[in-house]
Amino acid sequence: MYDSHQDTPSQLLRLRDPGIDNNYSQVDFPKLKKGGVDGAFWALYTPPDYDPSLAEDYAARLLDAIYAAAGKYPDIAAVTTSPAGALENVGKGIFSIFIGMENGLPIGNSIEKLHAFRRRGVRYLTLTHNADNAIADSAAGSATWGGLSPFGREVLREMNRLGMMVDLSHSADSTFWDCIKLSEAPVIASHSCCRALCSHRRNLTDDMLRAIADVDGYVGINFYPAFLSDDFGKGYESLIDEADAAEAAFIESPADASRIEAWHRAQDRLATVPRPGVKEVVDHIDHAVEICGIDHVGIGSDFDGILLAPTGLDNVSMMPLVFTEMNRRGYSKEDIEKVSGLNLMSVWGRILSLAESTL
Ligand SMILES: [Zn+2]
Repeated sequence: MYDSHQDTPSQLLRLRDPGIDNNYSQVDFPKLKKGGVDGAFWALYTPPDYDPSLAEDYAARLLDAIYAAAGKYPDIAAVTTSPAGALENVGKGIFSIFIGMENGLPIGNSIEKLHAFRRRGVRYLTLTHNADNAIADSAAGSATWGGLSPFGREVLREMNRLGMMVDLSHSADSTFWDCIKLSEAPVIASHSCCRALCSHRRNLTDDMLRAIADVDGYVGINFYPAFLSDDFGKGYESLIDEADAAEAAFIESPADASRIEAWHRAQDRLATVPRPGVKEVVDHIDHAVEICGIDHVGIGSDFDGILLAPTGLDNVSMMPLVFTEMNRRGYSKEDIEKVSGLNLMSVWGRILSLAESTL
């Protein structure tokens, strides 16, 4: 099983040891093993309000943390930069850590920096997070460019040339359509749900899902309850500001016991809002498959990046429940294999096959 988006590197910076199964982590090596996960894209997420030089430094620290985790557990995990490498790791029972960069802020205005991060193993770039940046407009932005910026077009061309995956989760609709029009390779949405089922602006419309299928791309369904259900979104909004403040205070001083406790208390309060579960996750898979076809849909859980997980799908060890539910709904073994990872590896292979240079 392969997951196209997990936010574990941010947790590594918060002093999390991925070799230890602890109550609050959604992802760690023991849970990944139990969940039958063979590999996942771990995101170098940089907050949208950082300035580019701070973001670059922060992304480099996240990279260091990934390599340190892989270095500490060489028999369990390895940084992997291709589908072929992933296949080799499966044979050895090693978890493949693929690296994606979530938010293009760390590259600033520099193609050289894109190259530098690629050399360190980054294989996809989520163009934006929740703000416009030098590359493009975000779904939560203010339409700075009306889609891709002139520099963003350069980035897109270079990513196509290098076989890096263009990830349009978090992008504004205008950015999405610019990339559909201009990209010479298939595009992906590593962690996005269906707007027809939940109206969040981060989700993809049916036209967008059809466009992904038309360019032979990929969408990984996100487990974040606010992207799965409008009802949940309303209840959650009333509590999230307080939780965000507690989390920010904790990140500032991760060894401060009172801040850890305040953050955990805020999470407990959020947990009282009724949440969608496995059923809703598979509803989004069903809808995406109905619109895109079975070859273009996968899983982009967003585990470790979501404060709350769906009911009964609290962490990555419970991943198989999604496929049990798909089986119950009549999906064949082959179709479940596609959604549970084969489609992600296939789109990556297609993008690599179009690359002109490996740098
Ligand atoms: Zn995200």
